[in-house]
Amino acid sequence: MSQIQVPAPAASLSRPNWTELTAQDIYDKLLALARNLWWSWHPEVVNLFRDLDPVRWRQIDHNPIVLLAEMTPEQVAERTSEMVLYTRINQAHRRLKDYLCNTRTTWGAREAGVLGAQPVAYFSAEFGLHESVPIYSGGLGVLSGDHIKSASGLGVPLVAIGLYYDQGYFKQRLNEEGWQLEEYLDTKVENLPMEPARDPQGRPITVEIETLHGRLLAKVWLMHVGRVHLYLLDCDVEGNSPEDRELTSRLYGGDLRTRIRQELVLGVGGVKALRALGVKPGVFHLNEGHSAFAPLEVIRQRMQDDGLSFDESLREVAAQTVFTTHTPVPAGHDRFDGGLVEEHLGPLRQKLGISFEQLMGLGRVEPQNEHESFCMTVIGLKLSRRANAVSSLHGHVSRRMWANLWPWRVEEEIPIGHITNGVHIPTWLAYPMVQLYDKYLGAEWHERMGEPEVWQAIYGVDPGELWETHNALKSRLLEFVRRRVSRQSRRRNEDPAVIEAARTILDPNALTIGFARRFATYKRADLFLRNFDRMAELVDDANRPVQFVFAGKAHPADEPGKRLIQRIANLRHDPRFAGRVVFIEDYDINVARHMVQGVDVWLNNPRRPLEASGTSGQKAVLNGALNCSVLDGWWAEAYNGMNGFSIGNGTSHANDDINDSRDSDDLLRVLQEEVIPLFYKRDADGLPREWIQRMTNSIATLAARFSAHRMVIDYVQKSYLVAAGGLSSDMSVR
Ligand SMILES: *Cc1c(COP(=O)(O)O)cnc(C)c1O
Repeated sequence: MSQIQVPAPAASLSRPNWTELTAQDIYDKLLALARNLWWSWHPEVVNLFRDLDPVRWRQIDHNPIVLLAEMTPEQVAERTSEMVLYTRINQAHRRLKDYLCNTRTTWGAREAGVLGAQPVAYFSAEFGLHESVPIYSGGLGVLSGDHIKSASGLGVPLVAIGLYYDQGYFKQRLNEEGWQLEEYLDTKVENLPMEPARDPQGRPITVEIETLHGRLLAKVWLMHVGRVHLYLLDCDVEGNSPEDRELTSRLYGGDLRTRIRQELVLGVGGVKALRALGVKPGVFHLNEGHSAFAPLEVIRQRMQDDGLSFDESLREVAAQTVFTTHTPVPAGHDRFDGGLVEEHLGPLRQKLGISFEQLMGLGRVEPQNEHESFCMTVIGLKLSRRANAVSSLHGHVSRRMWANLWPWRVEEEIPIGHITNGVHIPTWLAYPMVQLYDKYLGAEWHERMGEPEVWQAIYGVDPGELWETHNALKSRLLEFVRRRVSRQSRRRNEDPAVIEAARTILDPNALTIGFARRFATYKRADLFLRNFDRMAELVDDANRPVQFVFAGKAHPADEPGKRLIQRIANLRHDPRFAGRVVFIEDYDINVARHMVQGVDVWLNNPRRPLEASGTSGQKAVLNGALNCSVLDGWWAEAYNGMNGFSIGNGTSHANDDINDSRDSDDLLRVLQEEVIPLFYKRDADGLPREWIQRMTNSIATLAARFSAHRMVIDYVQKSYLVAAGGLSSDMSVR
């Protein structure tokens, strides 16, 4: 367990008395808890911090480091005795210590022992771990965060590499017209659970990356995520030009040159950082193309260390490399022109002893085609022996999309398999649901949450109890929505009557549908408005009303996406939708958690097959919400007719307009004929029995299959162990 240094109190020259010792001891234990993100997926520990100061806790994005910095040990001690927290603090602290020390009995120790000395190095451009650590933008980041949390829980030897963005992604506000404004806030390093990473001699680490126009420096931070070490590279260091000091300020900010430089730091810099740390990975996992320069630096190191030729080294490194692609949209893959590539990879290329044309060929589908730019996905595929998409359907799409890379193979033999995404259950499950599962699934479910059999016991749940728990969570969401909407109104200086109305917005008894995701046009947030008048009637129905909670950011450069937000946010001016369709600003992990835990239905209606996987619906499953979704991404393999609702029949039309019109008609139909009647069909006790049955089916059939525990186990068994052992007959994950 890491030693926490706390400055000695001024009075420590004289012998401290018992209460001083206790105060400092309590404070140190809380600080130790705050400095490992393990606390964030343990609701008892979250509640402990909250109980120290509930109001402040909310104001500071649930950041325990800020909370503790604002209090003296004496104040903490006073609060501890007032709230009788002492035993809870000791227990939490002991649990963390046991968790970090007891690694010999984990699943990973049993099943992935060979990775022990040679861990997996997991590269990702973003990590979504908690709302107080703003180094993520959306789905990819949350997936990476969930991946490393589950690796920690399972005890899979893994280190993670990412970038530290001091401004993160933008904060979203809407102006009076409903137009998205972006605001970037500086995060202070001292407010984050980070410390300088140190080499085996205890010195802080700075890596150097050569480019044709000088070198780039990056320092390395260490963040503790349970048992996993997450290393974050940061270009804000002395010795870099003022422009380069801002290189890693913002996630997905800047132009293509910024982008390739960030990716150079992540990939090449990340591999150099591992070497400086003394970590010798057995497997390199590139989560999406952003880090696909990494294998080039590994190849160079291997040539230098073992005297291999470029080709020999490439073969060995590729055998150790696993690549995951996430993007079914051709325009979503990073591409760079030859000038940018040579400027940034030129020095490394010379050390590899390959020509400019050879290097460019690694990033092209047709190596000789001078008109083709350099694509990060292509080099990722070429430098890895194992590649996978993130759902079964996305696997088909990816094999078709990249078939030209293997022109001699038929589509079915294109070596891109799939491992469907999943979510980290402890992060997304509401505490009252944890308590319910403790009661019905038996205490050992925490250790076995990735096993489907464990979840069968949910069929024994008392329907009334499940329904009550769900409704308590729904009330919590409504409270959250009311607080947020009235705050939004106050900030826009709206009419006092409007602000007042926000305090009672939404009806706790009405069917509540949630929709939250990035506002990209293909996700069609406005699909439900295509049949505008019919939808207005459904929403406004006096006996069986329907209400919607929306949230999501548009990329700052995406004007059509911003227009979608505006259209939905401005429905509050239409009397038929006012008070029944709300838009929550600044979608983040906190908003996501409230929404997936409290809605009745989780809606997803992307243009098929453009949703690679989607994970928010999986979070909703755990908490008892029912998915109503187009048969795309994970839902195409999850839906069985009885565990949710489907929009459309799993086909797509080549014409977008026809597609949209078919899907919007079917969305209306499924709401009108299936969702609404089932929700409002009550028995003599007022319970919607058939609805609750569907909730139970959903949990029983989906919770384990779409958990990150199952996902990480799949990666270990289908990719990591093979890559670490150099077994290489089967090239894909099928
Ligand atoms: C889960 C999550 C996502 C990804 O959800 P999708 O279903 O892929 O859209 C994005 N953003 C946040 C904040 C999340 O929690």
